[in-house]
Formats: sequence, C-alpha cells, structure tokens
Amino acid sequence: MSQPIKIGIVGVGKIVRDQHLPALAKDQDYRLIAAASRHGKVENIPNFPDIEAMLDAVPELEAVSLCMPPQFRYDAARTALMAKKHVFLEKPPGATVSEVENLKALAAQNGVSLFASWHSRYAPAVEAARMFLSSARISSAAINWKEDVRRWHPNQEWIWAPGGFGVFDPGINALSIATHILPPMFITSAVLDFPENRASPVAARVAFRTSNGLPVTMDLDWLQTGPQSWDILADTDKGAMVLSGGGSKLAVDGKVIHEEPEAEYPMLYRRFAEIVRASVSDVDLAPLQHVADAFMLGKRNVVEAFFD
Ligand code: NAP
Repeated sequence: MSQPIKIGIVGVGKIVRDQHLPALAKDQDYRLIAAASRHGKVENIPNFPDIEAMLDAVPELEAVSLCMPPQFRYDAARTALMAKKHVFLEKPPGATVSEVENLKALAAQNGVSLFASWHSRYAPAVEAARMFLSSARISSAAINWKEDVRRWHPNQEWIWAPGGFGVFDPGINALSIATHILPPMFITSAVLDFPENRASPVAARVAFRTSNGLPVTMDLDWLQTGPQSWDILADTDKGAMVLSGGGSKLAVDGKVIHEEPEAEYPMLYRRFAEIVRASVSDVDLAPLQHVADAFMLGKRNVVEAFFD
C-alpha cells in the first residue's frame, strides 16, 4: 500500500465542511495536514491565512484542494502548481476556459497532476445512464435543473458576481453529467434571465443539438420552491429514460433500474489519488465550455430584481 498523500485544503467554507472534510477523514489514501483560509479554520491541524503562507510553512505538502469560489481559484492554483503540488479544483474549475487551459499546461510543465473535479459525474446512477444510452438510439433529450437559490446558496454574493455563473453554478453540474452520457453537442440558442440588480442569470433556457441533429434542451431555474428537480430525460428506442435526483436514480419507462446512496466526494478523492499515482491529469473542459458558449450566444433578458 502506498503512503497517504499529504494534502492541504484552501478556502474553508460550505463545501469543505459539508463534503471535503468528511470524505478526507474516512480515506486512508490521504492525510490532511494543513488548511489555508482568510476566516475559516479546520480543527486539529495548522491553519494559515493564505496558500503562500501554508506552502512556506508546510513544505511536505504534496497536494492541495482548492475550494474557494471560481473567480479566486486561478492564482492559488498557479502558485500550487509552480510549487510542484498536485491540485484538486472544485467545480467549476475556473472562471474562464482559457485560465484552466493555462493551468493544464502548468501542471504538465511542473510534472504534477491537475484534477478538474465534477462531483455530479460521480452520482450513483450516472454510469448506468451512460451504459443505457450507449446501447440505445436517442431521439431527444431534456435537462431540467430547478432549485431554490435562497435554500442552497443563502448570502453567497460571489455566486451572483461576474464569474460566479448565477444559475449556471448548479447548471454546470447538469452539464457535467450530460456531457458524460449524451453524444457531443453544441448550443444553438439561449435566453438568459438577469435580475435587474444582478450580474449573473437567475434562469436560462438553452437549446443544443448534437452533430447528427438530435435536439437537447436545458431549462434552468433558480426560483423553484417546493419540490426541486435535477433531472435529465431522454426519449430512446429502448424507452423513456429519466435520470433524477441529480444523477442518483435511473428509471426507464417508469421502472427504477438503478438507485443507491450517493458517495460523490469519496469517489472524487479516489479518482484524485488514482491520477496522482499514475502521474496524469484529468481536466475535461466540456461543461465549462458550454457555459461560456451560453454567455456568448445567449440573449440577455432583464427580469425583476432578486433579493435574498
Ligand atoms: P463559500 O462557502 O461561499 O466559499 C468557500 C470559501 O472560499 C469561503 O468560506 C471563503 O473562505 C473563501 N472565499 C470566499 N471569497 C473569497 C475570495 N474573494 N478570495 C479568496 N477566498 C475566498 O462557497 P462554497 O459553497 O463552499 O463553494 C465553493 C466552491 O465549491 C464553488 O466553486 C462551488 O461551485 C463549489 N461547490 C459548492 C457546493 C455547495 O453545495 N455549496 C457543492 C459543490 C461544489 P475565507 O473567507 O475563510 O477565505
């Protein structure tokens, strides 16, 4: 058995507490030995105000997980890669496609691994959906991702700022699944609803088509109260597929064919250990590229102001 990877965590906030710390605590492949955050702290390990101070004080670190909002991730990632540390990027991997391309090149130049993590891709029924669709003839697909921003992202100003992506912050999770299970596709039109007091959209309707002409639609809404929907549907010659619950449950013609408890972050850390040990990177930019394309091609529609 290899030695545990000595890892540090940067940007201690909601996702670190909800997912990264519990996943790392249970994983024998890692030893969490330091954290860096301006305000957040992790108990029982040394904490530093920023990544530079952490890397100076703890040179034995081999890897870092960067969990701050995407607008502030590039500089930290560059610093870590230049110091020859393996880097785990929370999703979305950056605020622009080109900065992540640059990080990919820096990882290769420094001989370390870069992981653009897409947690929803590791939802329990995603592989089963991919298998089902690979053996079926698809006639159309639809993504419906509708949740209540006040419930899931209270007081997160960064998410509404430029580079925070607004409703595409959850929407990119849908795209990380869709780009894994559906044929390659591209956006043909989009309408993005921007609240008059915000820099990012609260809803969007996006049309894609695949190279062989299949229509795929995506409906994102951040004002959905009551039941939340994180669903991908496909009509196929083998039946109507519904991948629901953010990728946790797969049904065909109403019959559940795969459902199990989620373990997305333990699986992400397993994958990260695998790429570190194989000295490769895993950086798929397809979901981020679609978001960039939606902002590039989308019509801007101004809607009522949003207040938390
Ligand atoms: P968050 O709690 O608002 O932010 C994480 C931490 O980043 C903050 O606590 C803050 O720590 C640091 N940070 C904030 N602004 C910063 C800045 N200007 N410069 C440097 N650091 C800053 O956000 P989160 O919900 O954990 O999300 C972080 C990332 O994880 C996002 O990319 C998000 O899409 C992704 N993610 C979130 C969820 C979720 O359910 N929340 C799920 C999956 C993935 P300090 O103030 O201590 O520096």
